[in-house]
Amino acid sequence: MQLLDGKLLSENIKAELATEVDLLRQKGGKVPHLVAVLVGENPASQVYVSSKIKSCEQIGFKSTLVQRPAETTEAELLAIVQDLNADPDVDGFIVQLPLPKHIDEEKITLAIDYRKDVDGFHPVNFGRMAQGMPAFLPATPYGIIEMLRRYNIETAGKHCVVLGRSNIVGTPISLLLSRKGYPGDCTVTLTHSRTKDLPAEVRRADIVVAAIGIPEFVKADWVKEGAVVIDVGINRIPDATKKSGSRLVGDVDFEGVAPKCSHITPVPGGVGLMTVTALLMNTLKACRKEIYD
Ligand code: NAD
Repeated sequence: MQLLDGKLLSENIKAELATEVDLLRQKGGKVPHLVAVLVGENPASQVYVSSKIKSCEQIGFKSTLVQRPAETTEAELLAIVQDLNADPDVDGFIVQLPLPKHIDEEKITLAIDYRKDVDGFHPVNFGRMAQGMPAFLPATPYGIIEMLRRYNIETAGKHCVVLGRSNIVGTPISLLLSRKGYPGDCTVTLTHSRTKDLPAEVRRADIVVAAIGIPEFVKADWVKEGAVVIDVGINRIPDATKKSGSRLVGDVDFEGVAPKCSHITPVPGGVGLMTVTALLMNTLKACRKEIYD
């Protein structure tokens, strides 16, 4: 079994990005600028956003955190989005989800200029991705694709079973892995909460992508010998042996499943770190106007 090491990989990619930034700077070009908008005090969101900002600093990107209280109105947030859309110094920005209940997430996503949508959530980017056109890919699926590529995981003709059909992970990774080319050319089964006999579906998989948000849900006897397992889940469970009283686990029962796999991502230290790195890759593309003029 080989661990797909998101920590090592993201450090390597970040070193490459830092070199690119140095080159841009030497040529007198613009340094990529990412803005993160955080509304409210969701602890997980605070951790994610600070890790994005820290990563920018680490590689020489400019970054700005726009933080607003949970009482911020939808109109106020829309005004922030419009300002960022119009600001020529901002290459890309994200509005961290989830938003407080009184704000319509769809409205906010649609208000973001798709040319600055480095999270890849806007329907223009999603549609272009689905048609195989250049687009900002959603950060988590982009991170997974990059991980498969850099570990030279064979995908052509493989049967991939995706668990979960969210707009940000399950559905887009299904599309990307079924697309022509590498990594892709998989035969994909997209499963969800209404799937009958999920274990039987997973047993047929050469590649499993688990993105459902239930701790240690995928069990060892569901997984085929030699499968590649990508665990997207980030779940906090109680653990009295830890100082914090809890620990992070994925959607896969790592202890049981790992010995059966050819490759598996750990949680933490797997897909999560690749997600942040993919966001940085998108921001560099935005700055260089690689996708849109
Ligand atoms: P979500 O919460 O929006 O949706 C969950 C999906 O799982 C749904 O499509 C649902 O149909 C499916 N599902 C729920 N129960 C099921 C069951 N019993 N059997 C089969 N399918 C079931 O999903 P999401 O936002 O993609 O998040 C999934 C997990 O991935 C969460 O743990 C989240 O924290 C994590 N996540 C991690 C990253 C990362 O960077 N690693 C990024 C996004 C999400």
